[in-house]
Amino acid sequence: MNSQVTPLITRAANRASKRSPDDSFDYLIVGAGFAGSVLAERLASQLNARILLVERRSHIGGNAHDRFDDEGVLIHPYGPHIFHTNSSDIFDYLGQFTRWRPYQHRVLASVDGQLLPMPINLNTLNGLYGLGLNAFDMEKFLDGVAEKKDDIRTSEDVVVNRVGRDLYNKFFRGYTRKQWGLDPSELDASVTARVPTRTNRDDRYFNDTYQAMPLHGYTRMFENMLRHPNIRLMLNTDYKDIEWVVPWKHMIYTGPVDAFFDFRFGKLPYRSLKFEHVTRQQEWVQSVGTINHPNDYGYTRVSEFKHLTGQRHPCTSLVYEYPMADGNPYYPIPRPENTELYRRYEREAEALNEVSFVGRLATYKYYNMDQVVGQALSLFKRLKDRRDAEVHN
Ligand code: FAD
Ligand code: UDP
Repeated sequence: MNSQVTPLITRAANRASKRSPDDSFDYLIVGAGFAGSVLAERLASQLNARILLVERRSHIGGNAHDRFDDEGVLIHPYGPHIFHTNSSDIFDYLGQFTRWRPYQHRVLASVDGQLLPMPINLNTLNGLYGLGLNAFDMEKFLDGVAEKKDDIRTSEDVVVNRVGRDLYNKFFRGYTRKQWGLDPSELDASVTARVPTRTNRDDRYFNDTYQAMPLHGYTRMFENMLRHPNIRLMLNTDYKDIEWVVPWKHMIYTGPVDAFFDFRFGKLPYRSLKFEHVTRQQEWVQSVGTINHPNDYGYTRVSEFKHLTGQRHPCTSLVYEYPMADGNPYYPIPRPENTELYRRYEREAEALNEVSFVGRLATYKYYNMDQVVGQALSLFKRLKDRRDAEVHN
């Protein structure tokens, strides 16, 4: 047997020997972000399961956590989080725990001394080049400048294939190099494919059917999800400090997958950010929620929270995002060699019957919040089916 695998098998055996029907938790859930909180809520409320939810940080909500800053402005400490989804099921599920405030996010990009709509649309093109095109003309213009590719594999391919080299250089190349520390030609197509191109004047950042913010913030929504007598929450606790002490039957892990396996195949690359929060003694600074800076400064974008939250306040708070190689793991980096390394961890994860892996870090997927909720609800269904099968046997 591979000696690297032995410790986990031994750990599993030890855990099993501690179990007793009375004193153990049905689920140990690691991480109180969207993935962990949705599962805690579902398993407690639908299966009457006993849950221990363990979170390393001092708060719930994971990266979607929000709080009031010293001036009383509601901010997102881990960067701007805007909820959007095409799934009515996911929207309705979360709607049990919050009322919604409709919000359409708008972004301007600072390019060639102008603030222009991003995603690129008709107004972006006319503003940038001083043209007066209509939607039909824009389609023809793009056909003329696009570098058509049969095989679209990279983030560069996606953009030059649609809008050509000049728009790519001005809006995507610098931003992507800053954000990822990689050229777009080194990143999967899926990264820049997140941003659409439009030939009309629609200047919303997202296309989704449902675009809204939790009326009283994310943290309040998480509090409502976790308010159940079967859910015990331990903050400021790394699961590694208690997994041997507290008896549990099944673990749901939402932290980084490579850390779970003690990096046995090497570190999975994650991109990090440094957030610089500032408060200004004026009501507004920006005309829209976010301004992107593709070609200048060390930061990629500046977001002003009151646009997102709808809060009225005489002061305003903004966050500057500086991409970093090291620090908290915020973004899985989508490129083939990383996916291959992740597959090795995934095979190990699948071999562990008593642990389920879910969420952006544990499945190494560049997922939005709604996708994580969807993934967690699917896992809940599988766990419920497993429980039902056990009850019937
Ligand atoms: P997380 O939120 O990362 O939760 C995992 C939790 O596990 C963390 O709280 C962590 O502390 C805890 N943990 C890890 N290891 C341990 C351990 N050993 N012991 C105990 N606890 C542990 N999505 C959108 O839909 N819209 C947006 O506008 C948007 N903006 C974003 C902006 C930024 C800057 C970033 C980084 C992400 C953004 N996202 C956005 C993505 C969104 O943050 C994620 O999809 C979502 O928060 C992932 O939830 P999760 O539960 O998988 O992970
Ligand atoms: N992007 C870009 N220029 C922009 C906005 C986005 O090049 O003005 C690229 C960049 O590579 C970014 C990706 O598109 O990482 C996805 O953008 P999104 O706004 O979805 O990023 P997120 O909000 O997840 O950080």
